[in-house]
Amino acid sequence: MIQIEDTVDSRRFETNSNSIHFGPWHISYNISCILPSVCSTKVVCERDDDQFCQFCIYCKELTIPHFPDMVFPKNILTLTHKSGASINFNPLDALKRVANTVEAIEVACAEAWQESRPDAGKKKRTFDWTFATDYKGTFTDNIVIQATDETINYDILKQKEQILFYHDLTLFEDELHDHGVSKLSVKIRVMPSCWYLLLRYFLRVDDVLVRSNETRMFHMLNSDYVLREYTVKESLAKDLNIPTAQMKEADDVIPFLPVKEKVTEKLIVNF
Ligand SMILES: [Zn+2]
Repeated sequence: MIQIEDTVDSRRFETNSNSIHFGPWHISYNISCILPSVCSTKVVCERDDDQFCQFCIYCKELTIPHFPDMVFPKNILTLTHKSGASINFNPLDALKRVANTVEAIEVACAEAWQESRPDAGKKKRTFDWTFATDYKGTFTDNIVIQATDETINYDILKQKEQILFYHDLTLFEDELHDHGVSKLSVKIRVMPSCWYLLLRYFLRVDDVLVRSNETRMFHMLNSDYVLREYTVKESLAKDLNIPTAQMKEADDVIPFLPVKEKVTEKLIVNF
């Protein structure tokens, strides 16, 4: 049975959510406002009772000295199976995988970026200011991940099936001091026979480099597993034989990037 719930809390208009029941799955997402850049509730956060605002939680949990310009802390996509297994996508876990020690991408904008954040001080270039993350989702322990030769059947996705549920959520975004973009987003599509999602980290350092880390997940109704395909693509801008304007949008440029890494795994969710 498929049931769609739609709730918008009128008192706290900054948050809304939506969900769908799909076979043994409950799929939901939340949308929220941007992470503040300072602690807004010092009285609460400095108390000794383990209650913190979102900003203080990020400061405690992350080792990187700066966060992207826009982080949406409660933009979370969750897929819960009736077995209790759960998969979710959230910006905090994604940012935990940003390196705080780097071979930094040495470009002109690294200096500009530094100057725009004077409080960065001595921590100069000691973290990955492109916020590159190989995050592939957050999983409960009762999901078993196995290697597989099976691949996602894209023909099924090309069929003109009714779309029962769709959303595209931004988890974080940074404009690299007007020198490009670093963005992590996740979108989900639920159709009568399957669900499919794409988690995408997209990096464009203007006139320097384009990169994507993409995780696709695909589940056929009545099967007991999810296929997960992780693909890393990267190219120097000068090696791409396309106009610079075409590098602006992820969908326009990613098909032209050479594949650096690709691995497909099976997530067993019902055992
Ligand atoms: Zn706080």
